Amino acid sequence: MRSFVYEARRRVGPKRNRIVPIIERLAAEHEDATIALRFRSPLELLVSVMLSAQTTDVNVNRVTETLFEKYRRPEDYLAADVEELERDVFATGFYRQKAKAVRGTMQMLLDEFGGEVPTTLQELTRLPGVARKTANVVAAELGQPQGVVVDTHVRRLSQRLGLTRQEDPVKIERDLIRLVPRPDWGRFPHLLIWHGRRVCIARAPRCEVCVVNDLCPASRVTASPPVPGTVKVAQPRTE
Ligand code: SF4
Repeated sequence: MRSFVYEARRRVGPKRNRIVPIIERLAAEHEDATIALRFRSPLELLVSVMLSAQTTDVNVNRVTETLFEKYRRPEDYLAADVEELERDVFATGFYRQKAKAVRGTMQMLLDEFGGEVPTTLQELTRLPGVARKTANVVAAELGQPQGVVVDTHVRRLSQRLGLTRQEDPVKIERDLIRLVPRPDWGRFPHLLIWHGRRVCIARAPRCEVCVVNDLCPASRVTASPPVPGTVKVAQPRTE
């Protein structure tokens, strides 16, 4: 007997045929899907993303509002006592590790990159405390995406939409890189993140108002999808 999953995948068709309409409809539905962190320079972007581990973007923005007035250049982070920097990033959690990583990164920026934030994944991942996900986010926001950012929303939606069967973020990214057209690598994660916050919520996906429900093997409805832009979607917490 064929499984429910097999039947659902057969109903929606191959992922290669679905990926472009999925991107187009989500882009029409979430025109405002961009990074929620606030920054004014590549350096502020890098620090914001480093501080965002294990906390909400709202929380990071609250902290960086004053942090970025005090620390404007890599030298400023190194001139302060480590305890002072720890206090200044305390509210983002894991403050000791984050302060240490930020200081180490600032030192390397000065020593090896002339004080500028590099743009390749290879260079970014050499910075202390900068893992592949952070590097991917920074490179994409600097207009040079070299991969697809996989966070908790991207992972959940990619699986529900039948774009990957993997669990490991690195393997999920590999699947998405093969599937998503390269010009969309930067915006694709934002579309999934915002759709995940507003509609495809972890515990209670709102399939009935989902604009890609006819393209999703995990959909709980069979009716036609709503037209993008016509559904009133709740404003989420930016986590
Ligand atoms: S149809 Fe349901 S499960 Fe599929 S993406 Fe939309 S909300 Fe998520």
